[in-house]
Parts: sequence; structure tokens; C-alpha cells
Amino acid sequence: MEKIVALCKRRGFIFQSSEIYGGLNGAWDYGPLGTELKRNLKDYWWKCMTQLRDDVVGYDGSILMNAAVWKASGHVDTFSDPMVECTLTNQRFRPDQVSPQSGFVYYFTAGKDIEGSDKLKEIAIKVFVPNEDNEAKARKTARQIADKEKEIVSLVLVHKEALTNTVAFNPENGAPFGESKKFSLMFKTYVGAVESEESKTYLRPETAQAMFVAFKNVLEVARKKLPFGIAQIGKAFRNEINPRNFTFRSREFEQMELEFFVKPGTGPEWLEKWKDARLAWYQEIGIPRAKIHVLTVPEKDRAFYSQGTYDLEYEFPFGVQELEGIAHRGNYDLAQHAQASGKPLDYFDEETKQKYLPEVVEPSAGVDRTVLALLCEAFAEETVKDEESGKEETRTVLRFAPRMAPIKAGIFPLLKNKPELVAKARAVQDLLRPLLKISYDEAGSIGKRYRRLDEEGTPFGITIDFETLEGAKEGSTSGPGGRIEAGQVDTVTLRHRDSMKQERIAIADLPAYLLAAVG
Ligand code: ATP
Repeated sequence: MEKIVALCKRRGFIFQSSEIYGGLNGAWDYGPLGTELKRNLKDYWWKCMTQLRDDVVGYDGSILMNAAVWKASGHVDTFSDPMVECTLTNQRFRPDQVSPQSGFVYYFTAGKDIEGSDKLKEIAIKVFVPNEDNEAKARKTARQIADKEKEIVSLVLVHKEALTNTVAFNPENGAPFGESKKFSLMFKTYVGAVESEESKTYLRPETAQAMFVAFKNVLEVARKKLPFGIAQIGKAFRNEINPRNFTFRSREFEQMELEFFVKPGTGPEWLEKWKDARLAWYQEIGIPRAKIHVLTVPEKDRAFYSQGTYDLEYEFPFGVQELEGIAHRGNYDLAQHAQASGKPLDYFDEETKQKYLPEVVEPSAGVDRTVLALLCEAFAEETVKDEESGKEETRTVLRFAPRMAPIKAGIFPLLKNKPELVAKARAVQDLLRPLLKISYDEAGSIGKRYRRLDEEGTPFGITIDFETLEGAKEGSTSGPGGRIEAGQVDTVTLRHRDSMKQERIAIADLPAYLLAAVG
């Protein structure tokens, strides 16, 4: 993971937000390449959801909504995580994210002076030392805990015991956690000049609610019959207790959500259909099926309104973790908003002449987590022969699926001091850039330029060389498979990132070839 994080910074995929001020925990910026990668991902989701289907329309709701929305949806009252605090450092943790540890617990009694009295106040302190029997270490931590308020006078070991699989102590220092409390994940803000209860609202913690609240508006304009869906991509904010694993758990992130409205009783069937469709989609963006785990979320772990949830999880280097949740939400959301707003949100079924609240199946995916999965999946280090010197070296390469790659092709004149080569390379750039995101690079040896392409994950390198100027040699082949006839001019070297193979292709064939390759 460290190598991926370092590459992300070095190549401009992801930076810390406000880095020059020390950053902001849980907030990340996307640099030039990261922005393209993220855009490709979102555009492809959008295309698959709204362009390639008849039954989904798009929506772009505001981040700030009437606070009543969040009351009715249940977020104000229940969108919280349990939290425990370290008694030594006050660091906060989500109990379910603390890894179980085994070792010894030491129980001490600390004596403290009581002001104005010659008696000692005694307090009980326990400390955990993982994996080893180490009283000195436990004593040191116990003293730090006891010293938090006032100097201690004595510290006596009462007893010790072995303990397995405990999550009751801070794994970083062995101090015990305090009692578990509920911590709201909602970011509060105030709308307008006065900060009061009336002006209070929240930054949305999910995009979904905008689509439920606007269900009637969309129904009236979209001329859709059930089943149909509303899709949205946008920012969401959660004041996570412990942001971690790079961008995986952030406080500001983006979601790609679909609310798919179906006839009552057909939710379970649509849940299966969407699970299959979403699994197939991850393969299309270059994440192999074998790396995605489908978790059937047990009832006790599901949101209270959910009638069935699948989590699609990816094998990240830090563990198998959720990329997307697909939930059968019943008619909970529409029912809540209809009741709280007093506006009916039911659907009139022309066939049966009945009015009812549709059920909803929601595939909800994280943009940032999927970008991270794409980076993890693409990252490789391998020993290869340098294309110029023939020497063995290690290359770092991002093997993005071409449709996700931030830049599709790099264009190089073989030598920058040969005006004819540069002019031809610029002409190829002009030919391709209205169609695809490409880069132009004339600095350094061609081998170095290929390595840069590899680290950026660019699938194709196009080199304009002397053969380009001379005309193709008899017998060379063009990329899409056609032979280039003797005397045909304007061919270039096309270099493939993954195989590092090179072939000649006619410039005239480049647009069709590249467009087909990047899908
Ligand atoms: P988790 O259990 O990991 O906190 P969740 O089940 O609360 O996630 P959902 O409410 O189902 O997540 O949100 C849908 C998707 O939004 C998640 O699958 C994930 O991809 C993304 N997401 C949720 N929280 C975050 C976060 N803090 N940072 C980045 N992405 C997130």
C-alpha cells in the first residue's frame, strides 16, 4: 500500500487536501491524473446506467437540503457509529474496527495525594500488553494514565491475567477504552446569517435522499413506468470517527447511487438482478470477478429498513472491504417522506388502476473506493529488459483497463531536435486530441518516456520516427491487422504498455484503432 500511496503522489493521482498546511484528516485531492481517472470511472458508470438503459434517468440534487429531509429519513436520530475513547490519549475508535489482541492485563492501584489531607486516594488502573509478559511496560503506561490529572505517589501491581481476543484496549498503547458512546456522523451547518436551531441543516451523508424526495417530480416529467430508476453521482460527507486506509474511509467522498423503483413484491428479484449487473460492471472496468467478494449481509448487521443487502467487497491490500452496497430498502424512504411532508408519493399503476408505494432497490457505490481499487488492481512492479539498452530493470506499471486509463496514448517525436519529426508528431497530436485524452512528450530518451507512460498507466505509446518520414518498409504490418503496402507513407511505432510489444501502424488507422481499444 505504501508503494501505491507514494506513486499516487509522485505521479499526481492523489494528494492530501491542503497539504502545505499539514493536510486535513479524511480529505483528499485528486491531481491531474487522478482527476482523469475518476472522471472516466464516473462517466462510464453514468453511461452504463443512463445511456445504455431505457429505464433509468439522471438527477443532480443539491448538497444542502431542508433539514426535515434528514429528520424523516432517520439520519438525524440514527446515523451514528458507536465510538470508544482511549483513556490515555483520548483518541477515538469505532469498536468494530479494533483488531482483537491477545496478551496480559495488569491491574494496578495508584495512590494519589488528596489536597488538604494526609490520606491517599486510590484508583484502579488496568493496562494491556500484547503478546508478552512485560510488567515494566505495563507499569509505564499505568503511570501515564494515573498522572493525567495529578502526580501519583505509589503504583502497586495487584494481579495480572492472560487475555485472548480482547478489543477493550487501545492497540497502540494498551490503555483501556472508556464506555462506548454514539457519535453522529452528520456534518452540521447553518444556512443564512443566523446560527440557530431553525437555520441548522446538514451536509448530505448520501446522495440517495434527493432522489426519494424528488420522486414525484421525476415521475411527472420522465414518463416512465415501473420499474424505473433515478441515478445520481455526487459528493457526500460523513464525520467518520477514524478516517483511514488512504482514501478508503474519508470524510468527504463521492457516491454513484441508483434508486430503482419496482412494483411491490418484486424487490427480491430486482436485488438479484442488480447484484449480477453490478458484478459484471466491475469486470468491465478492469477488476476481475475473482477479486470481488459478495457478502450477504446478515439481518443483524443490516440497516433496520433493509429487507436484504449484498455488499460487494474488493480484496484491497489492507483487507477485503466494501466497494458497494446493494440494498432492498422496501418502501421505507418514500413512506417516511410521504408521511413527514404530508405529500403523497405513491405511484398510480395504469394497468391495475391501483395506487401504491413502490419498493426500492439501491446499488450504492463509492467513487473514491473504486478509484482506489482501480489503482490497487493496476499496480505492478516487474523486471523487464529496457527497450533501448536491453539491460534488466524494474519497471512500475499501472495496468489500467484502457477505458479507465487517465491518458489513452502518449505521442513522442523520436528526437526533439529534428523539426520534421516534431512537426509530424504535432500533426498526430492534432489528429487524435479531439477524440481522446492524449499526452505529448519530447523530453528524455524514448526509453524514459515509455517508463513515464507505464507509471501513468497510459496503454499506448506512439513514436514518430525516421521510418515515419521515409515511408513504411515493405512487409511491416499495421496495428489493426492490415498490411502496409510498400511505399505507403506515414506509419508510426505503436508500443503496447502491458506486453511492451511494438508494431507499426498507419497514422490514418490510429483513430479507429485507439477508439476501439479504449471502448
Ligand atoms: P462502511 O460500512 O464502510 O462505513 P457503509 O455501509 O456505511 O460503509 P453506505 O452507506 O452503504 O456505506 O454507502 C455506500 C457506499 O459509499 C459505500 O459502499 C462506499 O463505497 C461509499 N462510502 C461510504 N462511506 C464512505 C467513506 N467514509 N469514505 C469513502 N467512501 C464511502
